Amino acid sequence: MANFAEVVRAVRQVFRTGRTKTYEWRYAQLSAMLKMMDENKDRMTAALKKDLNKNKIESMIMEFNLCRNELILSMNNLKDWMKPEKVKKELMNIMDKCYIKREPYGLVLVLGAWNYPVQLTLLPMIAAIAAGNCVIVKPSEMSEQTAILLEEIVPKYFDNECVKVINGGIPETTGLLQERFDYIFYTGNNVVAKIVMAAAAKNLTPVTLELGGKSPVYVDRNCDLTTVARRLVWGKFLNAGQTCIAPDYVMCQSDVQDPLIEEIRKVLIDFFTDKPEQSESFGRIVNGRHFKRVEKLLTGVKVAVGGVTREEERYISPTIVRDCKLSDAVMQDEIFGPILPFYVVRDDKEAVDFINDREKPLAMYVFSRNQRIIDNFVNNTSSGGMCINDCIMHASMPSMPFGGVGHSGMGAYHGKFSYDTFSHRRSVMQRDLKMESVNALRYPPYTEKKFGIIKWLTKKSVKRTGIMSFFPLVLCGAVLAFFLKAVGVQARWPSLGER
Ligand code: NAD
Repeated sequence: MANFAEVVRAVRQVFRTGRTKTYEWRYAQLSAMLKMMDENKDRMTAALKKDLNKNKIESMIMEFNLCRNELILSMNNLKDWMKPEKVKKELMNIMDKCYIKREPYGLVLVLGAWNYPVQLTLLPMIAAIAAGNCVIVKPSEMSEQTAILLEEIVPKYFDNECVKVINGGIPETTGLLQERFDYIFYTGNNVVAKIVMAAAAKNLTPVTLELGGKSPVYVDRNCDLTTVARRLVWGKFLNAGQTCIAPDYVMCQSDVQDPLIEEIRKVLIDFFTDKPEQSESFGRIVNGRHFKRVEKLLTGVKVAVGGVTREEERYISPTIVRDCKLSDAVMQDEIFGPILPFYVVRDDKEAVDFINDREKPLAMYVFSRNQRIIDNFVNNTSSGGMCINDCIMHASMPSMPFGGVGHSGMGAYHGKFSYDTFSHRRSVMQRDLKMESVNALRYPPYTEKKFGIIKWLTKKSVKRTGIMSFFPLVLCGAVLAFFLKAVGVQARWPSLGER
């Protein structure tokens, strides 16, 4: 195992030179990433095929293009994002320069998960670099082929003193977590998240935790069930159900269950034929341990569709389970596999209570034409994100933050939110050494009169820029001069002769 203390010390040393803070360095690294992606596209999709039997087109849509688009968005907006953000000022600060400077944290640790191993390592890497940080990435050891590929290609394109890939399993992650980082970005399950957070707490290191959970679906009876089935089947069986925001279970009224299952049965044949084990579009479970875990969930349940398992291929067919009970294992923890259980509820109110009795999910899906029902879920539940009348699609919008809440995670990213995640927002106020008379208002001896002026001044806020900002300035000057005289504060503005 590498000497992580030494690696961290060396990278931190480089960060302190300020090299990574310049626009030129950041842009050059992002350009290098673009080159790396374009030159290794086929190798990436081949690695994903080996790791998860991911179809090449699925890899392109859900991993490669998503990262490439985010990369181009960051490159195109980098200059703007780096600009100091102007803020509204108060009369008291009309002469001051006030702005928010986004500055890099320093050295960032990214711990990736295995289910989207390209996306979950490259997206945080793009943002950490764009924000001017040094970054150490630890891809998941479970998606081994992708991890090996990243370890090989990253050093060929990036500034190796600032961007590093370290491979390994739990011992390596544990070793890395003993070191001090300036930010930790972890994607994975919430048991390990507690280990990560505890390690971060030792140094008060801020964290983003991208976790999972059981993302519920409610299907209302007034929907076109064929469309619902198509959207549900796509979202659920993508990557063989190993998606953090996959629909985990379906709630519906009893008269919806059978017709919807029938539609799903037809859609499954449309998408994967009646022999899904031979379909090029259907993935495999990542490893033997997860295969056994998912297979066990089928014990004692009413399988309506599928239920076929083949351990040697780590294959579990797209499976629908009907009339689930609360005590069924499939209704306990996140499924993270190709099983979709149905749980019958009386109405949407019971579904809302059911959701609120459990940990806040990462995603929530409602299919309905009834705005009252949609609003009931939007207003009376909480989840990381939500998509109405579809699945997964909300996560593909760079203008919306992606992240969890409560047990499904903390912090968010995607698009500009990623840049903000890896930047500290530093408030900077640059004052003048003149105008001491105005400042005298806050100095002792304290008086009610001075306090009255301060209250009045801080009530009025003005925009920083624009010709109109001069008007309140002049007005303020006149009013101030009057009040200062009234409270007996000695004005010390120099006369022309003294300058
Ligand atoms: P994983 O096993 O690949 O673990 C993720 C990282 O944690 C790896 O780098 C691994 O080395 C490290 N790790 C594992 N065990 C550890 C330990 N005991 N101590 C220290 N480090 C350890 O991934 P996983 O947890 O199986 O991922 C699946 C989970 O991740 C699911 O719950 C899923 O919903 C969630 N997920 C969330 C998102 C999101 O964006 N919110 C995305 C993908 C997956």
